Amino acid sequence: MSAMKIIAIDGPAGSGKSTVAKAVASRLGLPYLDTGAMYRAVAFAALRRSVDLTAADALAALAEQLDIHVAERVVVDGEDATDAIRGPAVTRAVSAIAATPPVRAEMVRRQQAWAREQGGGVVEGRDIGTVVFPEADLKVYLIADEDERLRRRARESGDEVAQDIARRDQADTSRAVSPMMAAPDALIIDTTGRAVADIVEEVLSRL
Ligand code: C5P
Repeated sequence: MSAMKIIAIDGPAGSGKSTVAKAVASRLGLPYLDTGAMYRAVAFAALRRSVDLTAADALAALAEQLDIHVAERVVVDGEDATDAIRGPAVTRAVSAIAATPPVRAEMVRRQQAWAREQGGGVVEGRDIGTVVFPEADLKVYLIADEDERLRRRARESGDEVAQDIARRDQADTSRAVSPMMAAPDALIIDTTGRAVADIVEEVLSRL
């Protein structure tokens, strides 16, 4: 683990994670992994196959056998699901699925395998600094004002309204297994009103 560089970027929806993580990865020439897209891929497949979202065993079996490819496009069992995983149905279902312990175990295993194969990378999510890569070279936890997060989400996905985001945050922070939180040694950055370039510089300065 020591030879590979891992940068963990966590935070809630609309905190600026994806934008900052992609920019940091590009500046450092490191691969980038969006772990939210992996949970969204499982949710997409569960909805598609009408799997009972409260049945942990069925969700676990699905997560284990699903072929998920997350890069520029997100391909789930051979189907391009890049747009579908950002749609309202998946966004509404994803937090319940992400709270299912065996689903998390499988995703964490895949995320760690990805980093080994790539030799490191910039990984964004909710539990990256706390659970997936507790030994990361740098842990960043992004936050932003409620209003700003809403504005950003409205631009990215017009149909997720304030109530939906609040519900998703609540589900993600209150779940029993690896709830969303900052690692004790994470660099906490409030991105409200700040330019992306400025935040990226702050992150890079900590390496
Ligand atoms: O980042 P994004 O909004 O795409 O994540 C979708 C959902 O996936 C989150 O609301 C959360 O429930 C789940 N997630 C997670 N752990 C991660 C990344 C995402 O539980 N590392």
